[in-house]
Amino acid sequence: MSTVSFLNIGMHGYINPTLPIVAELVRRGHSVTYHTFPAFAAQIEAAGAKVLLYPGGDMPVPDPPIPLALLEELARTTLGLLPDVLSDLRGIRPDLIVHGAACPWGAVAARALGVPAAATFTTFAFNKQVPSPTGFSRTLVAAAMKYPRIGWGFARARWALHRAYGRGGPLIDLMNAPEPLNLVFTSGAFQPGADAFDRSYRFVGASVGSRLTDPAFDAVQLQDPVLYASLGTVFDAGPALLRTFATALAPLGGTVVVSTGQEDPADLGPLPANVLARRSVPQLQVLERAALFVTHGGMNSVNEAMRAGVPALVVPQGADQPMVARRVVELGAGLSLRTEDATEETVHALARRLLEDPRFRAAAAAQRAAQEEAGGARRAVDELERYLNNSPGGAATDRARGR
Ligand code: UDP
Repeated sequence: MSTVSFLNIGMHGYINPTLPIVAELVRRGHSVTYHTFPAFAAQIEAAGAKVLLYPGGDMPVPDPPIPLALLEELARTTLGLLPDVLSDLRGIRPDLIVHGAACPWGAVAARALGVPAAATFTTFAFNKQVPSPTGFSRTLVAAAMKYPRIGWGFARARWALHRAYGRGGPLIDLMNAPEPLNLVFTSGAFQPGADAFDRSYRFVGASVGSRLTDPAFDAVQLQDPVLYASLGTVFDAGPALLRTFATALAPLGGTVVVSTGQEDPADLGPLPANVLARRSVPQLQVLERAALFVTHGGMNSVNEAMRAGVPALVVPQGADQPMVARRVVELGAGLSLRTEDATEETVHALARRLLEDPRFRAAAAAQRAAQEEAGGARRAVDELERYLNNSPGGAATDRARGR
């Protein structure tokens, strides 16, 4: 049996799909460690991993929330965390490192220790045809000119990283660190241009399960049709947009569930009686019942919706979400709306179209089938085990050596 060490950044969207993989690895007898920030420790421990905390509390949120600031934050965090992470990993002696593609210190640590590594992709996989939002681009250069302090901060930290650890991790796009095995949490049908990626990319589909349940929510009686709205866990558009969703959907729904994320539900003001607003809801459970999902287009949320066969109205807030929105529309599994165009009338009209035209549900059902076929967490673990067996020092190598 092997020891697998996970390293990731501190965002639900990046951690959630790895939890069922952790649970499945543990179920198959492997031992798993997971480096994280305090806010995520309980759920990772519940999945069965031994948690190791990064020094220095939770990861700061980049300000302003633009790709350049995220890259600077990642470069500085990598520099700060690596000494402790490397010392932990030297003690653990993992057979395999699995790091988020957006976790550069995982890539650098694997290289520094000479341990085989796999990357997990919560976003689309990126190449020339599907450019990464944090890749080198005119927009990134323009941001560096507009915010020179952040641009220089990134350059300084990236150079310091190179001096301390040499090659390891991407040069610029620290959110896109591929490895010889890349597990992408979407289906080949949802990934644009999936055929153009080499065999190191495995499109395993949404990896769901192993989440802490919410007994308080289990008791709630949901009335059909259940309509669900969420802007995810990171972006904060203010209470007005969430209120717009609630009031636009209320006349169409049985129960309208609104996850308010960064906002306090009380700040949405008085809501129609059939609206249930909570800071966080068990999304997988709600999607199982939902007829429609109004979403920011976070990749996990949309994959989870496709896996449940639920059409989506995507109102992108930033990052890769406009790309995700385009893909949903392209595949006929939903519609998209710009935030500035989202009024009670527009949201109501588009939601009604999605509920009444059966073609949207049929297209979402096709995505559901593709997600099922992709294999999810079990397939991901099969891929990791195969990779482990074929790595230098792996079981297959041992067999070849007659051990
Ligand atoms: N989520 C949840 N309950 C909520 C809101 C979100 O369980 O009330 C989960 C959701 O299932 C998904 C993740 O949080 O797995 C959000 O990830 P996504 O990539 O969609 O968006 P982000 O929050 O990273 O912007």
